[in-house]
Amino acid sequence: MCGIIGIYNNSNINKQLFYGLNCLQHRGQESCGMSISDGDKLIRRNGMGLVIDVFKPNILEELNGNIGIGHVRYSTAGGSYDYNTQPLLAYTKGEQISLSHNGNLINYQILKARLEEDGMMFQTTIDSEVILYLITRYNKGDIVEAIKETMKRIVGAYSIVVMLKDKLIAVRDPHGIRPLVMGNLENGTIFASENAAIEILGGNFTRDVAPGEIVVVDKDGEHSYMFEHKTKKSHCIFEHVYFARNDATLDDINSYMFRRRSGKILWKEAPCDVDLVVPVPDSGYPSAIGYSQESGIPLAEGLVKNRYMGRTFIKPTQEEREIAVKLKLNPLSHVVKDKRIVLIDDSIVRGTTSRNLIQNLRNAGAKEVHMRITAPPVKYSCYYGIDTPSRKNLIAASMSIDEIRELIGADSLSFISIDGMTQAARIGGENLCKACFDGEYPIDPCLV
Ligand code: SF4
Repeated sequence: MCGIIGIYNNSNINKQLFYGLNCLQHRGQESCGMSISDGDKLIRRNGMGLVIDVFKPNILEELNGNIGIGHVRYSTAGGSYDYNTQPLLAYTKGEQISLSHNGNLINYQILKARLEEDGMMFQTTIDSEVILYLITRYNKGDIVEAIKETMKRIVGAYSIVVMLKDKLIAVRDPHGIRPLVMGNLENGTIFASENAAIEILGGNFTRDVAPGEIVVVDKDGEHSYMFEHKTKKSHCIFEHVYFARNDATLDDINSYMFRRRSGKILWKEAPCDVDLVVPVPDSGYPSAIGYSQESGIPLAEGLVKNRYMGRTFIKPTQEEREIAVKLKLNPLSHVVKDKRIVLIDDSIVRGTTSRNLIQNLRNAGAKEVHMRITAPPVKYSCYYGIDTPSRKNLIAASMSIDEIRELIGADSLSFISIDGMTQAARIGGENLCKACFDGEYPIDPCLV
């Protein structure tokens, strides 16, 4: 649960990095950073907080160069501390190297223990530092070979941008679990976790970085290399269920269209006799539109969002998440009073948000509150970079649907089926990771 960006251009890119990172802010709000090269040396500035707070104009002015990478972070491995902010920057063999990573390594602890036995000391508690260390260890003048050697040893989900003083490199793990797209700017190349970062800079999306691909950009242009160990694609479906922006098109799935199709399918699988369809903003909107279109039941805005609050799922503690729900969504009593409503949300992970919302809607006068979820029950932990690490926090792992319904206080509760969700994706279930729903992990999590 991070966002990464990399830009190679022929003029100063500090503002492009700034705007691009702002565009990826929904992917992580704890910390952010940028490294930039003027062709001679790399400078890095990192900090805790939002991009707009960390990169005040005076800080941005310190960063001048035409190659750069950036990162917004939510901690899934390691803690939420300033020493874990990214990009990482290392000095080795007479040169500087910087790296931003989105994903989780399954074999991090094993690799770290081995490196520590070899005398390596770590400055962070994040898996990304192991990747950086391995790349520098194997770099004997050929950075692509060094990355391939690293890829032979690291197991898990990783989308990475790496930079040297004169090169930008993008790498995606052989399963393509976490997203990474690339595009053209007027005089350069851009990589980002989501295409919106390309589009807001006036660039054109060209393609996804392929699973197992290494793309190098330097003064001679773009060069693509494939890591030879072929594996099956396993794109994270949860990106489209919840995490990515509505305007994301990743691995041939547009998140908005996916969500709308999910709503239509959900109506067919779980119809409901109500007066209004009410979305949970923001990612519930497209699905509610689909549910409303397919059913003919009017769509109504029954919850008003405080647009200055962050996303509730990506707050570090349970207590903070509970407060955030209350602050974030306020029921519109003029709309819901005396109405039977179906509330459309994208997922129930811990149940906190749903329970509070339903209670608040009843307090506002709703006669019945039914709930329809456009993801199947989340029953299994994610080991690939989405924050569902412990099964004990997943209510669907230990409770039946009816028990969950009772807990959240809904009149009825249904989830889309795994088949329905897969159908909505339209790229074939064999190309997707759905492990948090079906427990079929594309990479064995036993290495954890
Ligand atoms: Fe995405 Fe779930 Fe797979 Fe994790 S387990 S990568 S959240 S689909």
